[in-house]
Amino acid sequence: MTTITDALRRLPKVELHCHVEGTMRPSTVVELATRNGIALPTDDPTQLYRYTSLDTFLDIFWLVQSVLGDGDDWARLAYESVIDGAEHGLAYRETFFTPARHLDAGQRLGDIVAGLAEGLVAAEDATGVRVMLIADIDRAYGPGPGRELVEQLVELRRSGAPGTDRVLGVGMDSTELGVDPTDFASAFDLAGRSGLRRTSHQGEVTPPDTIRAGIDVLGCERIDHGLSLLDDAELTKRFADERIPLTVCPNSNIRIANAFPRLEEHPYPQMRDAGLLATLNTDDPAMTDLDLTYEYHSVMEAFDYTWDDMVAIALEGVEGSWLDPDDARALKERITAEGDRLRPVVDVEG
Ligand SMILES: [Zn+2]
Repeated sequence: MTTITDALRRLPKVELHCHVEGTMRPSTVVELATRNGIALPTDDPTQLYRYTSLDTFLDIFWLVQSVLGDGDDWARLAYESVIDGAEHGLAYRETFFTPARHLDAGQRLGDIVAGLAEGLVAAEDATGVRVMLIADIDRAYGPGPGRELVEQLVELRRSGAPGTDRVLGVGMDSTELGVDPTDFASAFDLAGRSGLRRTSHQGEVTPPDTIRAGIDVLGCERIDHGLSLLDDAELTKRFADERIPLTVCPNSNIRIANAFPRLEEHPYPQMRDAGLLATLNTDDPAMTDLDLTYEYHSVMEAFDYTWDDMVAIALEGVEGSWLDPDDARALKERITAEGDRLRPVVDVEG
């Protein structure tokens, strides 16, 4: 008997806000830590992703990243992230990687990108799921290293280095508080001039003027999180009129940022009602015990959405993506066809 959960799992879905480091299986963290001589607070994989606040989450996030020692580790991470996503109907993902800490520790960007791409190619062969990369600037390292990351990326692309054709664009993540996004204008300007697409985490815990800076100063084509956007009616209207995508992660906002006590209080429905292109995403699924099926199912239940609402949300994921028009059209047709095929199942379930 097929259930709504199964139907949501099978519905082809797009993800535009997912950090590859945040997809690492706990068992893989333990294995890589052992191999690379990294001490973990526990050897029990089930105990690894326990945190009580944003700060303890970030501590564990850094610890998880530190187990990635070389290109092979990055390849394994990328491969497993797609295998795990495919089980939940992932059809296409534009995934972040944030190399600042590893570059600081002496790894080379070319090795990281080549490793990630190798894992993605193998996973694509195994599952048919296509995944592209977004190189994220880590705000905490400051504008200098941010600009250097883009310079290195541009140079690697110019030289045709392995895997660089998988990198679609640049983004920016990590702490928002106390950071002026306009300090990173030079890095984003270079990215734009070099043909890289642009996005940025803004407005998760900062006011809407950082979101405005993201599009007007950094030239971003979409905004990750953008939670505070609704506080500015004029800017909200502009995002709605221009269909500037937001990559929203409702359950992550609860589990990591503790922004709302429960999903029912998340402004996701208000965002959609305002006409915003608010795509649905998991952020750091393994570290928060999330997956795309749960993300869709919990949102459907919390906001009394219909099956057609959920199909529309999946289609909006394509609209917010950086797929070329032919591929976007093909994926939309696939989602629509599967949505129609699965609808009777859902109607029977009620
Ligand atoms: Zn994020």
